[in-house]
Parts: sequence; structure tokens; C-alpha cells
Amino acid sequence: VEFLQRLPKAELHAHLNGSIPLPVLRELAYEFLAENISNPAHDVALPDLVRTGVEQLQRGVVLGEIHQFFALFPAIYALTSTPDALRRAAHAVLGHFLSCSDGYPQAAYLELRTTPRETPSMNRLRYLEVVLDEVEKYPREQAALIVSLDRRMSPAVSMECVEHAIYLKKGGRRVVGIDLCGDPKAGNMDEFAQQFRTAKEAGLGITLHIAETEDCPAAETLQLLSYEPDRLGHATFLDEAAKKIVHTKEMCIEICLSSNLLCKTVPTLDDHHIRYYLGHDHPIVVCTDDILPFRNSLLGEYALLMAEPPLGLGLTEPEVEKIARMGMGCRFGQ
Ligand code: 5GP
Repeated sequence: VEFLQRLPKAELHAHLNGSIPLPVLRELAYEFLAENISNPAHDVALPDLVRTGVEQLQRGVVLGEIHQFFALFPAIYALTSTPDALRRAAHAVLGHFLSCSDGYPQAAYLELRTTPRETPSMNRLRYLEVVLDEVEKYPREQAALIVSLDRRMSPAVSMECVEHAIYLKKGGRRVVGIDLCGDPKAGNMDEFAQQFRTAKEAGLGITLHIAETEDCPAAETLQLLSYEPDRLGHATFLDEAAKKIVHTKEMCIEICLSSNLLCKTVPTLDDHHIRYYLGHDHPIVVCTDDILPFRNSLLGEYALLMAEPPLGLGLTEPEVEKIARMGMGCRFGQ
């Protein structure tokens, strides 16, 4: 374990609202329920949604398939809708990854990502500023922010998010990239071309969730690759044409082992596409995705690399060291 703890690891694929430590989520839920139940002016359905969602997360989430995963977020979002609650959530997530426990942090470097939301008490720019205030409490070599675009966003909203990211970057704030995330079935990817072009021209890194499920259309995958991303989230179901582009352009693959197993997009570790990329000596980075529902950790993901099959991949220390180095090499904020 000490070998893995000491290894400098980059966490490049962690969603803020999916990474809130459970005790902090519980605290936010308790306060939210206390305030909303006593306030009849508030939406009566919300407390029930929050109670059911938090109970489910406490029990441990069992998913039949990946699309059920996205239904967890409305309850979490209800709890991070004020600047103060968002700040506390961001503080806790950064602390989880970057403060030391047993003498070592989970990650030497974190690129946290989040989708800016407009709520009754903050607009999208304020949302990003609140999160950045927490990110920037850590040195530049330790933490940075990626702005996520949700596939369901309208063109105007996704462009607004890109413009905020550029504005903040130009103002010296620590925004390093743009991500595309959200339910893989949602949205029209034609509508994101200009957004990624604009972001790239402004020097932002691009990472896209891509080919997460078997039914993702091959044409959509090729279209997303034409936006020239630097990194790809999951990339589980690439066909030969897509793989050729990914290899030629050396796009780093963000690998989330537990997430893929629990969302049932990959049946076993033995079938996992990490084996393909390792076999082709292709750049990858091992990440957690969403520690709140998946109950995983970055250390645990690395432990899966080393554990003997069938529990793990049975890799050696030098092989795991090489993977960690590759991950550090794929940072946007270098
Ligand atoms: P947030 O961006 O709000 O901080 O984090 C939660 C959001 O991240 C979810 O609403 C969802 O859109 C996105 N997300 C989290 N995990 C995944 C994943 O595995 N795949 C995709 N496509 N999106 C995800």
C-alpha cells in the first residue's frame, strides 16, 4: 500500500457533484430539510426528492444500467444550489483529494470538473467563481478547474459557459479546460462545434466523454473526435476508425475502472478497454469519476491495477509507476 500511497498520482476525471464526501452531503441534506420543511413557500416535492436521493446514496447505489446513474443528480443538485453550500461541497472535495491522510494525499494533482448551474441565488459565472475560490486555495501545481458542458445544454447556454471559462482564464483564474459530459443519449452534438473551436482558440484543453455505451452512434463519436479533443473520458466503445484517430493524435484516455463496472458498461475487469490501451502503449490516466455514488478512491483504483486477477489486473510496480507518470503527463495545467 505504501508504494501506491507514495506514487504521485494525477486525478484528472472527477466531477464535483459526484465527488462530495458522504458526511458532508448528509450535513447539507440535514440543513436543507430543516429549512425547507419549515418553509411552506418552497417547492414541496424537493424535500422528498432529497430524502430519497440521500438515503439511496447512503445505502449504496446499485445501478441496472448507466442511464439510471444520471437520475441521482437532481437530489445532489438541490443541496449545492446556494453559494455557501457549493463552497462547502467544493472545499470538501478538494480536501478529500489533496489533504494528507496517513501522510499522503490521494492525488498529487487534481483537475476538478463541474457544470456551471444557474440557481435562484447564483448565476453561472458566480457558480464558477465560488468553486475557483476553493480551487485556488491550493497551489497551481496541485489544483485546477475544468468547466463541464452538459450534453442537454442549449447552444446559448453552452456558449455562455465557454465564454465564462475564457473570461476567467484571461483574468488569471485557474480554468484549464472544457469538458463535455451528461447522459450519453441526450443532446445534438452538431450544436457544440463552435463552442469547442472557441475554447481551443483560447488555449483551453478539451476533454470529451465519448463512446461510453455500446449504442453510442459511430458517426457521433467521429464527429466528437473532429473537435480535436486532447483527452477522452471513458472511450469504451471506439471502432477501428475512431481508434486510428485516437492513436494518431495521441489523445489521452481517462480510465475509470470502478465507474465502468458499476455502471455496467464493462462486464469485468478482464474485458476492460484499459487492457487494449496498455497493450498499445497509449497514454492513459486512471481516475475515480464520482466517489460519492461509487464509494471508490484514487488509491483503490490504483490498487485494482496491482491486485491479482480476477480481482485486479496483476500489473507490476514498474508498470503502475509508468501509468502514474503518464497520468501526470496528461495534465492540462502544466
Ligand atoms: P457536476 O458537473 O454537476 O459537478 O457533476 C455531476 C455531473 O457530471 C452529472 O450531472 C453528469 O452530467 C456528469 N457526470 C458524472 N459522471 C459522469 C459519467 O460517468 N458520464 C457522463 N457522461 N457524465 C457524468
